[in-house]
Amino acid sequence: MKQQELFPIKNKRRSVTTKEKQIIYSLGAKLMQTYSHNPKVQTGAIIVNKKTIIGKGSNTTAGERIRDHEDYQLLSLDNSDNNYRLNMLEHSERNSIFDAVRKGNWKKLPGSTMYVAYLPCVPCANAIIGAGIKQVVDSGTRDMRPDSKWYADWIFVKDILFPKAKIELIKIEIPQNIEEKFIIDMEYREYIWKVINNQRKIKSL
Ligand SMILES: [Zn+2]
Repeated sequence: MKQQELFPIKNKRRSVTTKEKQIIYSLGAKLMQTYSHNPKVQTGAIIVNKKTIIGKGSNTTAGERIRDHEDYQLLSLDNSDNNYRLNMLEHSERNSIFDAVRKGNWKKLPGSTMYVAYLPCVPCANAIIGAGIKQVVDSGTRDMRPDSKWYADWIFVKDILFPKAKIELIKIEIPQNIEEKFIIDMEYREYIWKVINNQRKIKSL
């Protein structure tokens, strides 16, 4: 008789499915959104290599990157010049790549997966390609109608840039009960925070 049969392990936790991992990491990208101080738009991204989170970021201003908060004030002014505002921003996807580089994880970027709260814009998609990221998981619910502001960008990224660069784009939906739990349950958000800081293993949903 095999040893396993002599000593059955009761209540053994089943292994976490790929889908569950994708949902938890997507919640991690959503959590990073909440760290943006941009009054208009908040986005978040995390990069995962195997089971390790190698980079994470939210959208920032140049000022945040040099720890000068003057830019927030300029950004929050309704009459601030739109070009100025756009040029002052750094997107969460690129910030997560910079974070990986700063932490010395640049060698782990090729082949990794990025989780995003919105489908990346064209410059971010190019940065993703340049970094060697091979998979992008998008859990965003952004308006994709042809008359929406970012429509041309999305079509270009999902139909041209990513297929040409052989980047797999996976669109997932976070189940409503999990999304609600994430919004109201502080302990659950703390667990997600620990996961994206490599302090906790992912558990099944
Ligand atoms: Zn972008």
